[in-house]
Amino acid sequence: MSSPALEIKDLHAGYGDAKILRGVTLSLPPRSLVALVGANGAGKTTLLRTISGLLKKSGGAIALGGETIDGLPPHRVVEAGFVQSPEGKQLFHGMSILENLMVGAHTERARARRKETLEEVFELFPILAERQHKPASALSGGQQQMVAVGRALMALPRVLALDEPSLGLAPIMVDRLFEAISKIRERDLAILVIEQNVFQVLEMADYGYVLENGKVSMQGSGQELLANDHLRETYLGL
Ligand code: ATP
Repeated sequence: MSSPALEIKDLHAGYGDAKILRGVTLSLPPRSLVALVGANGAGKTTLLRTISGLLKKSGGAIALGGETIDGLPPHRVVEAGFVQSPEGKQLFHGMSILENLMVGAHTERARARRKETLEEVFELFPILAERQHKPASALSGGQQQMVAVGRALMALPRVLALDEPSLGLAPIMVDRLFEAISKIRERDLAILVIEQNVFQVLEMADYGYVLENGKVSMQGSGQELLANDHLRETYLGL
C-alpha cells in the first residue's frame, strides 16, 4: 500500500508557553481532498505553520509521502512538496498576474516544468490567461484567490494546503473556486482545505477533521460529518 501523502501523528506546537496544538493526528491519502474545519482560534493556521516549518513543533511527527519532514526549514518543506496558499492571499500587487504565478515556481523541480504547469493553471482558471499582463491589484477578490491557488500549484505540490480560500468572496465566486479546487483533484496531489464555509467544503471533501482546542474532536467522511448533530449545531447553526 502506498504511504499517505501527508501523515501527522500526535503533533504538539504553540507560541512560548501557549500550547495550541495538543496532539493532532491526521492523514491524507494520495489524491484525496480533506477538509479541516473548526472555530476561530482552534489552531488550524498554527497546524499549517507547523507543517510548513515556520513554527517549531514540541512533539509528534510529520511525514510527506512516507518521508519525515520534521525540523526542515520552510524552503526545504516546499521542495519536499508541501505547498501552502496562505489566508489573505498575500499577492505582490505591483506585479502582473503572470509574474505572481512565476514566483511560485521557485524550486528547481518546479522551474524545470514551469511552462507546462502554467498552461495547466491557465486551463483551470482561463480568466487568468486573459488577464495575465494586468497587475494583480486590478483583479477582483475572487480572481486574486485564483492567482494565489495558481501560484501554489506552480510549485508542483504533492500536498496543497489552502487556508480559507473562500474568505471574503461573493457566493458565486466561492462556487467557481470550489469547482476549480475539485478539478485540481484530478492531478496527482492531495489537498488539505481549511474553511469556515463548513457546509460547502464538507460536501466536496472525501474526508474531514474537526479541530477543537488544538485537538481533533471529530472525523469522518464529508457526509458523515454533515449528518452529525454536534457539528450541525456548532458549525452550521442548525
Ligand atoms: P482562525 O480561523 O481565526 O485563523 P485558527 O484555527 O487558524 O483560527 P490559529 O490562527 O491557529 O487559529 O490560532 C490559534 C491560537 O493561537 C489562537 O488563540 C491565537 O490567538 C494564538 N496565536 C496565533 N498566532 C500567535 C502568535 N504569533 N503568538 C501567540 N499566539 C498566537
